[in-house]
Amino acid sequence: MKGGVLCSGSIVYDTVVRPVADSDWGTTSFVETIEYHVGGNGANTSLALATIGMPVRLMGVVGKDPQGEFALETLRRAGVDASPVAAVDTPTAASIVIVNQAGDRKFLHRVGASACAFAAPFDFSPELIAGMSHYHLASLFVLPKMRAHGPEILRRARAAGLSTSLDTNWDPQGLWIKDLGPCMEHVDFVFINEDEARMTTGSSDPAVAAERLIAHGARTAVMKLGPRGCAIYHDEREYRCPAFDVEAKDTTGAGDCFAGGFLAAMLRGASLHEAGRFANAVGALAVQRVGGNAGVPPFDEIQEWMRSARMR
Ligand code: ADP
Repeated sequence: MKGGVLCSGSIVYDTVVRPVADSDWGTTSFVETIEYHVGGNGANTSLALATIGMPVRLMGVVGKDPQGEFALETLRRAGVDASPVAAVDTPTAASIVIVNQAGDRKFLHRVGASACAFAAPFDFSPELIAGMSHYHLASLFVLPKMRAHGPEILRRARAAGLSTSLDTNWDPQGLWIKDLGPCMEHVDFVFINEDEARMTTGSSDPAVAAERLIAHGARTAVMKLGPRGCAIYHDEREYRCPAFDVEAKDTTGAGDCFAGGFLAAMLRGASLHEAGRFANAVGALAVQRVGGNAGVPPFDEIQEWMRSARMR
């Protein structure tokens, strides 16, 4: 195996409510579950990587509050090196995640401590990258200050000898390619879902969207296609990987876990196609459980599951 993954991204205290049907203001509805989870793209991808069995170090910011402590404790217990996570006097970022019967979700997000994160590009010091061979930027758009420094941070990661990846996520500010474009030339893998691809490139056709991201400089575009799996574009070739046939309960964090699975496989020497298939398995395992990073088992168990799981 090459080294582990240095990840930077959001760390969020998620309250997941499900199942929720549409209701009017001023009414009360019963729901089956209200659960508390650690979420955020940085935390989800790191937790998936650690559970799979990869060395992973997370950079991010939490508040000095019980929610921040819960997040740090959960990360540490799972085996994530959270020592670079800073604790600040602003409350930990929090989301209310509303999930409907079909597993679709809606977020209400308070940025909180994430507003303080990555106020300036950081150095990839020998201590920070010890044991790591890859840098993953998990949240370009939800950390307000990260979007300005993304290109420089990714450039520094490569200069320090790391391979790089980026997951775009939804852009609440609606700037899309304006802030993503300059990152692309410093990125080995860009992960993007269909809605984000349409907003970023103007095309919902994965091949066209990938071509446009690659034209901006990305080496490989990994298109997440939900229940249709994924499609990977590299060197004018397309690798299609159908999804596993599972019943989705909660798709929160599926993309983050998928990215963790893809990176774990690549760092263990898989081909692009094998990594896409493995990432689909991690995504499929994640959507069957409530919570942004629940349901992901260790590497060997995922492989075992893949041998008997049905494809769509
Ligand atoms: P995001 O969570 O970023 O919006 P997707 O919804 O595309 O991304 O989900 C990420 C990955 O999780 C997909 O590429 C697929 O591998 C897996 N996945 C998501 N939904 C399902 C589903 N209903 N059935 C099987 N796999 C799924």
